[in-house]
Amino acid sequence: MMVGDPGRGRQWCLRVPAAEAETVRQALIAEGALDRVARPRREGNDVLLPITAWREGAEEGSFEANPERPELPRHELIGGIAVMQDDDPRGAALILASRPNLHTVLYATSEVEGEYRTKSFRVLAGIPTTRTEVVEHGSRFMIDLSAAYFSARLATERQRVAAMVADGEVVLDMFAGVGPFAIALARHAALVVAADINPAAVGLMQENISRNKVRNAIPTLADARRLAGVFPWQFDRIIMNLPKSGESFLPDAFRLCRAGGMIHFYALVSAEGEHRVRIGELGGEVIAERVVRSYSPARWHTVYDIVVNEKKPLKSD
Ligand code: SAM
Repeated sequence: MMVGDPGRGRQWCLRVPAAEAETVRQALIAEGALDRVARPRREGNDVLLPITAWREGAEEGSFEANPERPELPRHELIGGIAVMQDDDPRGAALILASRPNLHTVLYATSEVEGEYRTKSFRVLAGIPTTRTEVVEHGSRFMIDLSAAYFSARLATERQRVAAMVADGEVVLDMFAGVGPFAIALARHAALVVAADINPAAVGLMQENISRNKVRNAIPTLADARRLAGVFPWQFDRIIMNLPKSGESFLPDAFRLCRAGGMIHFYALVSAEGEHRVRIGELGGEVIAERVVRSYSPARWHTVYDIVVNEKKPLKSD
């Protein structure tokens, strides 16, 4: 495999006379600047030494992958960003050099937190940004990991729900974030209303709606608690992806969904069937309960597909 060839992106290197190559190579190793993922190569009287980042005198070149490629530390790739599990700047430099499309390596300094469900990050290597573009099933999403929630792990789930949408449906995404569900569903629905309480998320959603040329989604800066009663219609389908506290919004979702419509309710659960009693009280029938992914050893991110059977008068709880 070639690293840094034009088809795969560029690889920076230093051209040094062969007689000096070993000295410079050792100096680069000591500095943590030698790209060990690519193999140095000879060109005439010179040796090209691949490096992890541009510096004065660097040029571009193509390299074969180094067979002694070091094992990379654990990380998750999100667009052009790698998020490491450990605060390890040396490992970050290796990760950054391992793929030409990576621009930044981050370490999360907090859990997902607050009303906006965001994390804080420290930049370990590369360009100091938390913004990047993610390509998901043909859609392109601009995201900002510190400003608005995004999880690439729900990509398959978004496609599953999108495949259930029938022509002409009017859909509500109550906690839409930067719009990945809304945009996937808009490709099938007549209209998607996509709400979020985080202004940064709604700003990115607007950008994503426009870059994906979606013409039937309405980005809405709103608290989902205020949506019931605002719309002069009821929705055919509602997405509720606020797993930690979404249950308290179920009465609003039932008000907003027509009889016969469907609610996809995401929740963190410790046992199967945890929310079935409440859903039944509200007049819903669970037609499927699926684990989307494991969240911790004793908790799962689960989705309930709910058909709204009947309209019971709801207490204003
Ligand atoms: N659906 C998106 C996705 O799959 O990427 C985002 C899901 S994220 C877990 C939950 C989102 O709900 C966050 O963007 C947060 O800002 C938003 N949120 C939290 N409370 C809200 C509320 N009361 N009304 C509307 N949005 C809310």
